[in-house]
Amino acid sequence: MTSSDTLRAFHIMAKPTGSDCNLNCAYCFFLKKEELYPDSDFRMSEDVHDAYIKQLMEAHHVPQVTVAWQGGEPTLMGLEFFRRSVEIQKKYQKPGTCIENTFQTNGILLNDEWCQFFHENNFLIGLSLDGPKELHDFYRKDKAGHGTFDRVVRAVRLLQKHKVEFNILCTVNSKNADHPLDVYRFFRDELGAQYIQFIPIVERDNQTGFQEGNKVTDRSVIASQFGLFLIDIFDEWVRRDVGKTFVLNFDGALAGWLGQAGTVCIFGPTCGLGMALEHNGDLYSCDHFVEPRHLLGNIMEKPMAEIASSEKQRKFGHDKKDTLPQYCLNCEFIHICNGECPKNRFVKSPDGEAGLNYLCDGYKAFFKHADKPMRIMAELIRNGRTAEGVMKILADQNAMSVEKFAGVTRNDPCPCGSGIKFKKCRGNQ
Ligand code: SF4
Ligand code: SF4
Repeated sequence: MTSSDTLRAFHIMAKPTGSDCNLNCAYCFFLKKEELYPDSDFRMSEDVHDAYIKQLMEAHHVPQVTVAWQGGEPTLMGLEFFRRSVEIQKKYQKPGTCIENTFQTNGILLNDEWCQFFHENNFLIGLSLDGPKELHDFYRKDKAGHGTFDRVVRAVRLLQKHKVEFNILCTVNSKNADHPLDVYRFFRDELGAQYIQFIPIVERDNQTGFQEGNKVTDRSVIASQFGLFLIDIFDEWVRRDVGKTFVLNFDGALAGWLGQAGTVCIFGPTCGLGMALEHNGDLYSCDHFVEPRHLLGNIMEKPMAEIASSEKQRKFGHDKKDTLPQYCLNCEFIHICNGECPKNRFVKSPDGEAGLNYLCDGYKAFFKHADKPMRIMAELIRNGRTAEGVMKILADQNAMSVEKFAGVTRNDPCPCGSGIKFKKCRGNQ
């Protein structure tokens, strides 16, 4: 490894409380990670905290550095920890760089003091919420088994009161997956959320040591269900909300149509630039691979930049494209999807090859459905216009087709020019 091989920038998700959380959501994969550190108090020490910020600032050779906090539940560290963090960040900040803090939380402990602090220090908050009350409360419960919806909505109102920017992080699971528009409209209309991300719950059923095949827990979303979920929301979004409501899943996919796949890691061609830092300084290849075989080292023993640029991490990143099944390589959407996240690649392709993404059917259906509007948006952007123009183009096309099809009876030739009877033509569906 030479100094020229050292990365200029990377992303670290720090977990100052490890997997420790004040909730007990049924589908949470972090809770099980407690077993990795059986005797730990799950609190980041001042030494690790200082080393993390110092090394992060030193390792970056770009104008913006992101300090990302997540859990478990980072608010369990207490507000003073983050006040100190801002001071440490200032101490090590390089001239000419700008620092951004992101903070993922379940919202339960937020109050005016937290939100005032977030506002004053420009924290960007990711808030976990799965939809309207009955959909959210089904899986997102506290340790006493009570739903948390009311407390999370209270947190939304506090963030809004203090003008703190926030994203809604919504898992798509077996309970809310059949209610896409109820979920989306609730976020948009009742909460006034502008930034939304949908995260599919895919939990492999490992009860029996199962390693191959497509068994998932009954909390998981089914691939086709996830595809329909995205399609229903996309259809509403692309006709009325482009430029007003930002859905990360759609923005990430649109980047693929623009030839820039990788603005969200799941659709990127390789992995490796987003690592996870445990409370004790252990650095793992990715937040989704916090497990012994993906432990890269400890930042108290080796500099973070060196660990991030290691051969082990480089291989982890490149494995994403090097292990794609032929089925993906032949797929018309490979440049958009790139086989999605490796953690979900555990089913067989139709011709029996291992390593296909569990969500493939859903993604394929969504990409196919969104193709035409995505192409329109990509073309608008390439021509220096904004993607919003797609809404008028689709509205005009719709009006034209209503006019064209007016008065046509079932047995007439279809006006689309297919030569097939209207009742049988695909244009009639
Ligand atoms: S393993 Fe998945 S979550 Fe991690 S960087 Fe790769 S695509 Fe992203
Ligand atoms: S849609 Fe399916 S086949 Fe195509 S790249 Fe994605 S996972 Fe592979």
